[in-house]
Amino acid sequence: MEVKQCDFCRMPYQSHGNKVCRDCLMKMDEDFIKIREYLYEHDRAGIEEVSEATGVTRKTILYLLKEERLIVGDENGPGCGFLTCETCRKPIHTGRICADCKNEVLSAIQENVRAVKTIKQEVKQRVEEEEESIKGVAKLSLKGTKR
Ligand SMILES: [Zn+2]
Ligand SMILES: [Zn+2]
Repeated sequence: MEVKQCDFCRMPYQSHGNKVCRDCLMKMDEDFIKIREYLYEHDRAGIEEVSEATGVTRKTILYLLKEERLIVGDENGPGCGFLTCETCRKPIHTGRICADCKNEVLSAIQENVRAVKTIKQEVKQRVEEEEESIKGVAKLSLKGTKR
């Protein structure tokens, strides 16, 4: 067990291997269930709409997208530009980085840990910019839902 900073609320907490603290984890699961219920009825609803209808903050929705629990836009189509790869900025539908960069980062982790740490710090700033830029046009769906 070690003390880490919660990936969501930034408070220090005793980690058991999760990236977020116990409070955030519980709240996020509750929020995810609310979103899931809503999207069952309203597939491809806009982020603004989902946030208003469920009371889940846009920050949480963005986090769930980055954790690959939600997807934005048409998975088989081009990215809508809302969510972008944290490394090359290519539009993506879910997660933090595109498939190409995922492979590169994986090899970078093995070769040069310091380089990856620098990327992470830039990413934190970018996440804040993205939270500001959430647009109502971005359509959400549940990850793994068959249409
Ligand atoms: Zn937290
Ligand atoms: Zn990329």
